[in-house]
Amino acid sequence: MSDTHLLLARAATSLTLMLKGLDSRLDLRLHTLRGLLRQKDFQLEQFQAEMAEVESVYDLLEQSTEQNIQLYLRSFKSLLADSSPAILAPLQRLQPVLSDLLSFAEPLAHFVTAQLALPAPSIGPDGQSRTANELSGAQLDVLRHRLAGRFKALLQSLVAIGPDPVAPAALMSEVDRVVDWQALDRLAHKTLDLLQVQLREEKLAFVDYLTELDTRLARINQIVTADSRILGELRAINGLFNRRMNQQVTEVRAQIDNSPRVEVLKNELLGSLDQITHRLVEYQDGYTSRLDQLQTNTAQMAGAIRALEQDNQELHSKLKRERDLSILDTLTQLPNRLGFNNQLEAELSRATRYHHPLSIAIIDIDFFKRINDEFGHLVGDKVLRVIALEMKRICREHDYIARYGGEEFILLLPQTLLPDAHSAVEKIRYRVAHCRFHFHNKPVPLTISAGVAQWRPGEATDAWIERADRALYAGKQNGRNRVIAEAD
Ligand code: GH3
Ligand code: MG
Ligand code: MG
Repeated sequence: MSDTHLLLARAATSLTLMLKGLDSRLDLRLHTLRGLLRQKDFQLEQFQAEMAEVESVYDLLEQSTEQNIQLYLRSFKSLLADSSPAILAPLQRLQPVLSDLLSFAEPLAHFVTAQLALPAPSIGPDGQSRTANELSGAQLDVLRHRLAGRFKALLQSLVAIGPDPVAPAALMSEVDRVVDWQALDRLAHKTLDLLQVQLREEKLAFVDYLTELDTRLARINQIVTADSRILGELRAINGLFNRRMNQQVTEVRAQIDNSPRVEVLKNELLGSLDQITHRLVEYQDGYTSRLDQLQTNTAQMAGAIRALEQDNQELHSKLKRERDLSILDTLTQLPNRLGFNNQLEAELSRATRYHHPLSIAIIDIDFFKRINDEFGHLVGDKVLRVIALEMKRICREHDYIARYGGEEFILLLPQTLLPDAHSAVEKIRYRVAHCRFHFHNKPVPLTISAGVAQWRPGEATDAWIERADRALYAGKQNGRNRVIAEAD
């Protein structure tokens, strides 16, 4: 092998090492090129043909690199576009919590205003419409107690989900001291003020979160912009390299065409290949350092996205915790009115869809005020817990029992016709009446009265509950300790 031939072979080896691994077809061509140079009888035509192949494979490779860069840019942009709604999702999930609070507060505010200023018509036990002016003092007291009980439930929710549980907890202790309508009016105002504070704080927390989110998104944007710039530079380098490479190859061709002697040609070829090798080294260095930078940026971005995801998850579980707490009555551990309303909505849509019967019962402890008066509030509380536990034990798995307010409970019986609902509640009544509750060895008489009503397809919820309430009232009028089913 001549010296020139040897140098040429070495240059081909360098070229192979530089381009190796970029593409398997290119590897194969370079291998063949080196093989040709190793051959004792070096064939110029063969070498030229092989060089042209290398060139065309490289062209293809360049095209696919360009396509990959475009693909990367596209997928990066869509990643960012896709991630925004995901990041914002927990904020949308917060919405129900706020509207729950509002749906709880608004009717209450209207109800209180109506009761205090302009008595709304109500239905008497005889089914006749009459106004609150005509209600007896005792009935007005019952109404006031009920309202106070509702405020207590609302304050309980505020203790559970509010940022400051102290203020609503303090107000809760005032509920039992509500002795007249003026006191109830004061309580109503204080409670609604608290509710407003709660909503304002919730709003502020939102604003803070959104600001934080904005900062993080801006950071991600910064990184993405940097990435696009680097990719642009990569492309420019690639283009430059290819122009030089093409120029070299064209020059080599021209020299081959114009030179009469192979030995001279070989020397010139060698020089050209050295230059190609030099360009390749430059190209490789630039490429590697920019890739490193790209990798660092991508890692930073992945970190930023991870942090956002974690934040969102924490927010999500915090909201879930708050939601769970806000539908639970702390005294009896039964769902509260809010929880019941949620369940009622779900069961109503199921009953509508599948044409299933659905019944409801309102259960009220008899002479509960006497228990409080005779044995004290703490015993009253204990009685509420005992009865709640007993009812939960007796109910079927699919029945849903909740504390509706004060000493009132509400039971939802899915897929149950009126007579069956009556029997189920009758069982509860019997068990409560026979449970032996003692305080300091003194028996505490416990009975309940209940009104049961089956939902009529298309009927408004209020009207349905009103029917059950009327049946309960009839039970109270007829001596208590009884379950009345409101007949169709
Ligand atoms: P009736 O048989 O007509 O239902 O008479 P009642 O005494 O049970 O009804 P009333 O509505 O007059 O009194 C209900 C009482 O329940 C008044 C209220 O102070 C009390 N109460 C409401 N919530 C609670 C509570 O969480 N704990 C205690 N201990 N008492 C409560
Ligand atoms: Mg009651
Ligand atoms: Mg009662």
